[in-house]
Amino acid sequence: MQTAEVQRHLEVLKQINDPEIPVLSILDLGMVREVIPLDEGGTLVKFTPTYSGCPATDLMRAQITAALTEAGFGPVQIEEQLFPPWTTAWISPEGREKLRAYGIAPPVEESADKNILFGESPQVPCPRCGSTNTRLISQFGSTACKALYACNDCLEPFDYFKCH
Ligand SMILES: [Zn+2]
Repeated sequence: MQTAEVQRHLEVLKQINDPEIPVLSILDLGMVREVIPLDEGGTLVKFTPTYSGCPATDLMRAQITAALTEAGFGPVQIEEQLFPPWTTAWISPEGREKLRAYGIAPPVEESADKNILFGESPQVPCPRCGSTNTRLISQFGSTACKALYACNDCLEPFDYFKCH
């Protein structure tokens, strides 16, 4: 489905990182829904922000436009797709690995954790030692999209990327 030309566009886009989680690119986060090279020249990018109203969204749009233009793929049109809304389920397996390596526990999806269904905090495995013997310290970690947990086994605190 992805042509070599689309692939070249994606190579450019994967250099753009989320300002809030600098280890993840906008591709790792699944924010780029579709890249369409247009017959009349230029590129249409369908983009879903992680959080609507997030000030970082404008910055990312500007970075997409600048990066593709510089690579010779301009003019660039960006179509914001707000439906379906972004969910942590769109984070790629590679993105989840990068989060873990960075010391942030990747999101536990609802289907995998019945605690969430009962309104309790999800059971989050420690990104360092893998123990599920962890506890919630604060609903708000270093940014609004993260919660602060601590591991009862290795005693390290860690950020958890909350589900949406
Ligand atoms: Zn641990």
